Amino acid sequence: MNISKIKKTEILSNDDVGVKRASDIIKAGGLVALPTETVYGLGADATNPKAIDLIYKTKGRPSINPLIIHVFDNNYVFEIADKNKLAEDLSSKFWPGPLTLILNKKNNSKLKIAKNALADLSTIAVRVPAHPVFRNLLKKCNLPIACPSANFSGKLTTTRFEDVLSSFSGRIDAIIDGGPCPIGVESTIIKIKNQKISILRPGKITEEGLKACNYSLQKKENNKDIIAPGQLTSHYRPNTPLRLNVKKPKKNELLLSFGPLPKGTTGISLSEVFDLNEAAMNLYSSLADLDELALINSNDAIAINTIPNSGIGIAINDRLKRACS
Ligand code: AMP
Ligand code: MG
Repeated sequence: MNISKIKKTEILSNDDVGVKRASDIIKAGGLVALPTETVYGLGADATNPKAIDLIYKTKGRPSINPLIIHVFDNNYVFEIADKNKLAEDLSSKFWPGPLTLILNKKNNSKLKIAKNALADLSTIAVRVPAHPVFRNLLKKCNLPIACPSANFSGKLTTTRFEDVLSSFSGRIDAIIDGGPCPIGVESTIIKIKNQKISILRPGKITEEGLKACNYSLQKKENNKDIIAPGQLTSHYRPNTPLRLNVKKPKKNELLLSFGPLPKGTTGISLSEVFDLNEAAMNLYSSLADLDELALINSNDAIAINTIPNSGIGIAINDRLKRACS
């Protein structure tokens, strides 16, 4: 790291005092890592192009990959994005929560979202988060916050304060310690086009869940013009190679198990009781721990049991596939 770029990173509590400080930093154009219900995010004022530029630089994220804009409530969403019947309906059902909607940007909005936050697109990705700390921050600073995941581009997403600290200490203004993120995988991203919806990135809100609410879904498009890093084939990568759908690990492999860890095996269980929600919550932190262990022990790979491809298991498998491609 370039010594001149080292910053003093403030560690903030998740109470009113810490969040007020975070709000002041964001209003002044700084970067704050914060807990959300999905994963840790790296937040900045979405109306400040310089602050947005800092997000791309700090993450090493290509500037063509637009950021999700987070706001306090649904009314705020429709101040920056065009309303349509389906969007209003989805927003009243799923917000606040782990859903991101891709909508058309409102042209005559009084609130000017920085162009670079949207990678110059005419669409905007918006979310109203449910995490109480993030909500408090949005309320206190009364700004839209651009907030991608708090990890270096292409590397493992972070869902624990300690992992954010080890990546970004010295590189950003502050980190709010909000404990582990309860969902553990990134938000479901939905695109609405011609009054039809399609899932661009699977998450806690699933196709089954949407169908149960009587939404009809469009088949997945192989659309090259959807710019979504969550859709790049290689993403979310640990340093150690991963091997998927493994029944029994090889001699020099660590195991990431679904269900109890077999006797005599070195590894971590995502959920001893075969609970997919628990597995999602533990996914990135377990991979981070095994990655570190593999480095110390010179393991060849992290072997991973088959994860059932239903519910949030679809999101887990999506991330695992990208992590080893
Ligand atoms: P992350 O910030 O890492 O959670 O990733 C955010 C995701 O939202 C990425 O896949 C972005 O490409 C996607 N995204 C953000 N804005 C847009 C947009 N206007 N159109 C399509 N995808 C978007
Ligand atoms: Mg990300």
